[in-house]
Amino acid sequence: MSDPSALPPQHEVERWPPEAARVAAEWEMPGWGETIWRGVRGRCPHCDAAPIFDGYLKVHQTCAHCGAPLGDMPADDAPPYIAMLVVLHFVAIFVVLFYKGYYHPSIVMAGVLLVLLALLCMAALRMAKGAVIGILLKLGLKRERL
Ligand SMILES: [Zn+2]
Repeated sequence: MSDPSALPPQHEVERWPPEAARVAAEWEMPGWGETIWRGVRGRCPHCDAAPIFDGYLKVHQTCAHCGAPLGDMPADDAPPYIAMLVVLHFVAIFVVLFYKGYYHPSIVMAGVLLVLLALLCMAALRMAKGAVIGILLKLGLKRERL
């Protein structure tokens, strides 16, 4: 009845695996543990030879050593979520100790703990962002260019 080649171009067949998976396979990333560990340390998850970050949280657009597209990885809200999930478990210990009456910090000690909490959040955020970028790079999930 109808000739499939006569369909207009917007009806092209979707390919499987999608383009992103083929790109990821070309990169030959290390295993999951190694990829995440390199990201946590702030090193390029692909080559481990150059830093991910240009400053505290700004990501290099491409790796200076291997050219991995670090800046195209859409880490978005995952790093702060992971950082809060980890750090707030430590805070919960103090909250429980306080309400059970085992620990009553002085005002000075409470201030010190607040500063430590802020520093812990900042360190955890950077480590989580590196790990998420490593995971996204291994999965080949690049940000869509609009
Ligand atoms: Zn690299």
